[in-house]
Amino acid sequence: MSQTILILPGDGIGPEIVTQAEKILNYLITVQGLPIILEHGLIGGAAIDALGEPLPRETLEKAKSSAAVLLGAVGGPKWETIERHLRPERGLLAIRSGLGLFANLRPAVLFPQLANASTLKQDVVNGLDIMIVRELTGGIYFGEPRGIRTLENGERQGYNSLVYAEHEIDRIARVAFDVAGKRNNHVCSVDKANVLESTELWREIITNVAKEYTNIELQHMYVDNAAMQLVREPKQFDVIVTTNMFGDILSDLASMLTGSIGMLPSASLAADGIGMYEPIHGSAPDIAGKNIANPLATILSLSMLFRYSLEEISIADKIEAAVNQVLTDGLRTKDIFTSDTTLVSTEEMGDAVLAALVAVI
Ligand code: NAD
Repeated sequence: MSQTILILPGDGIGPEIVTQAEKILNYLITVQGLPIILEHGLIGGAAIDALGEPLPRETLEKAKSSAAVLLGAVGGPKWETIERHLRPERGLLAIRSGLGLFANLRPAVLFPQLANASTLKQDVVNGLDIMIVRELTGGIYFGEPRGIRTLENGERQGYNSLVYAEHEIDRIARVAFDVAGKRNNHVCSVDKANVLESTELWREIITNVAKEYTNIELQHMYVDNAAMQLVREPKQFDVIVTTNMFGDILSDLASMLTGSIGMLPSASLAADGIGMYEPIHGSAPDIAGKNIANPLATILSLSMLFRYSLEEISIADKIEAAVNQVLTDGLRTKDIFTSDTTLVSTEEMGDAVLAALVAVI
């Protein structure tokens, strides 16, 4: 039976980078005969322009009936001044919560060929392989009440709520411990339990769940220390589990350990098995339309889609091998270019990965 993948290119560099992953999908469908149907939909600014809202009902319905979603990125200066609840980023939050995607897996793996593209010393990052498990549908990005209000003295005050219920912490803890069990059996839970009550509860629940996973070593760390440790000695980490906002920030930090934010994929998973796959970066309006964006994070997100949603492990491995090959061949987009390598465009990088895939399949 065919499975449907919904493709949501979004805004900025989104369409350029998603096109490169789609080349691979089209090859796998038309030449290799994989039983996959591709659907397309609108999200973010593109949806606002066409239909007046960042997540049209049709897009959410299509997503719900798909096996997986591949997303580019949303947002850009064009939509920064419209009403907050209509902004592109709200479309992203709405699809994450509409699909119940509570677990965000963000691997930060250094391809050895890119060791000199990192701003950190090679011996600090060589061999780096971290998995950040970020809670994605709770915490301060969703907590109510929220808004900007006017106080009695006429001054305006912005406010948000950092709220976590026990079941939200329990289920993300289980994802992290399960993932660690397939890796190096170590989980570092990152919180700010010394200051924030919501993460005091976070620490308590994580500690309780850990009692069921006797093979996993659990460590707790405050987020400020975790940021420092990620730069000082990143290889001490195996799996990091943390809240929505801390995970957002720490995974951008971790991206620079690997050379570029353009290299990092992510998977967002729901309890019922549906997954959404996207690069961790945004729509990069500063380089959109220039054919210079790095498509590898999106292509690696496609690989995660095959691994986690379609359970086509061999195809996932081959896509990763193809990415590895183009890096070994010295091909680099501008963000990871060094003088001893060959500068290529977004399109050329996509074509090269496809050619490398065809060679290994
Ligand atoms: P960004 O990730 O878009 O860009 C940060 C920097 O990284 C920029 O200099 C950009 O050129 C570079 N960069 C990002 N992706 C790259 C790639 N694939 N190849 C090469 N360079 C790349 O973050 P930002 O500038 O803070 O945000 C821009 C817009 O994206 C905003 O509207 C923001 O709200 C939105 N955003 C969307 C998402 C998402 O869709 N998941 C995530 C973050 C930000």
